[in-house]
Amino acid sequence: MYKKLFAILISIIFICCGCGMKNSKQQYKSLSDTITERDQIIIGVKSDSYPFGYKTSSGNYEGYDVEIGRIIAKNLLGDRNKVKFVPVTASDRMMKLYSNDVDILIATMSITPKRKEILDFSNSYYTAGQAILVKKGSKIRHLKDLSGKRAIIVFGSTSEQSLRSGVSNLGILGYKTYDEAYKALKNGRAEALVSDNAILLNYALKDDSVELLPQLYTKEPYAIAFRKEKESQSMIKYVNEILNKEARKGTLDKLQEQFEIK
Ligand code: GLU
Repeated sequence: MYKKLFAILISIIFICCGCGMKNSKQQYKSLSDTITERDQIIIGVKSDSYPFGYKTSSGNYEGYDVEIGRIIAKNLLGDRNKVKFVPVTASDRMMKLYSNDVDILIATMSITPKRKEILDFSNSYYTAGQAILVKKGSKIRHLKDLSGKRAIIVFGSTSEQSLRSGVSNLGILGYKTYDEAYKALKNGRAEALVSDNAILLNYALKDDSVELLPQLYTKEPYAIAFRKEKESQSMIKYVNEILNKEARKGTLDKLQEQFEIK
């Protein structure tokens, strides 16, 4: 009887330990393994933020962020074309990342302390700064001049956060895309459009009736965003090695010159 009980007890302990061992050894698939098995990387990029991520008339994605995506594809999969670009906006990019629509985001995304609570970032690959776009002849010269007026932002961007907290008595008009925001400025819906200088510059260059004010109000370090989970960690290290290597080789400088953001 005792022998039988003892045998059952040993079996229970064995099963439990077995389960425990299985749990502690439980395997997870790293993001880089998922990408190499698929033989394609899926990257969320902007489609409306020239010259970082934009769609050409033939439907291709181009821009500085897009080129960085191609460099990563080349290093990881041996072919700069083994990449699928998925359009994201400032307001839906985190959702698309966490619903696994994309592997990573290269989408004019600044590192901020708040975002770092829910995302992991690569090293920064570019630095922009918030600036103000106005119609030519506007009396607005500085951020403080916007007090009591209306300003346009793109939802989900860092300028939405800084305007909501930084300027008193300001009416804020939000849009989903940069093109909508720019059209709203042109149509006189507000006195100014506030966002990153490197994105706004394009509008000032192609349109004589608007002006980009020179003062920068923030530092916006752009970086590649990853889901904050252990599956991402080896990929982040690898991506940082690629970014460092390409920076040393002068590739990032050359691309910035090519896209006129240097
Ligand atoms: N860099 C800023 C941000 O991360 C603005 C650019 C954008 O709308 O993505 O929010």
